[in-house]
Amino acid sequence: MSCCKCQEHGWADPQPPVWTDPADGREYCVFHAPVEHKGISVAEFNKKIFRRIEDFGGSAQNNSRCDLSGVVFPGEIIFEENTEFPSVSFNYAIFTSNIDFINAFFTGETEFDNAHFKGDADFFGSQFNGSASFNWTKFYGYTDFRETEFYNKSKFKRALFNGELKFCPLNNFKKIPAKRKAISYTTFVALHSTILRNSTLKTAENYKD
Ligand SMILES: [Zn+2]
Repeated sequence: MSCCKCQEHGWADPQPPVWTDPADGREYCVFHAPVEHKGISVAEFNKKIFRRIEDFGGSAQNNSRCDLSGVVFPGEIIFEENTEFPSVSFNYAIFTSNIDFINAFFTGETEFDNAHFKGDADFFGSQFNGSASFNWTKFYGYTDFRETEFYNKSKFKRALFNGELKFCPLNNFKKIPAKRKAISYTTFVALHSTILRNSTLKTAENYKD
């Protein structure tokens, strides 16, 4: 048997189960197990995340991505400044606490579709060299995209911001071909104080994928 969430999210390397739900017998690996059933500390869990990203670096030549889809992050996680991410999927990830991507380099395609940020999400000064996707992402805490550089398509379709949002990307789009200068904010919902400095809001009709 293997982790039901690894199967659901199509992980190429399903992880061994660490917990079985007595209610339905479904098994969960350490990455996908609920917070209270991981059996390791937040620090130990975060180390596993760092190692998974580092280990992927060696095989970044292929078109695949570092798969962190559906991962349940049990506590605060801080990525060292200037951390380089390969193409990575955080789709359906649940960040139960604060996450810090300050000055991170996302070198390939980056996906946060349907991710839930239950704490603060800090992307200050981060750089997205490939496409960045935050479709249906929910931000519940303070969210910071100041001085973020998007060099490719960025999508925030139906993203929901429940907390304070600061969104002031640098105007660095001159470096990329005109046809790739697209940032899409479709159904961009912010319920709290919102700063959208230097941002161009486009409707879905104007946005060419
Ligand atoms: Zn799993």
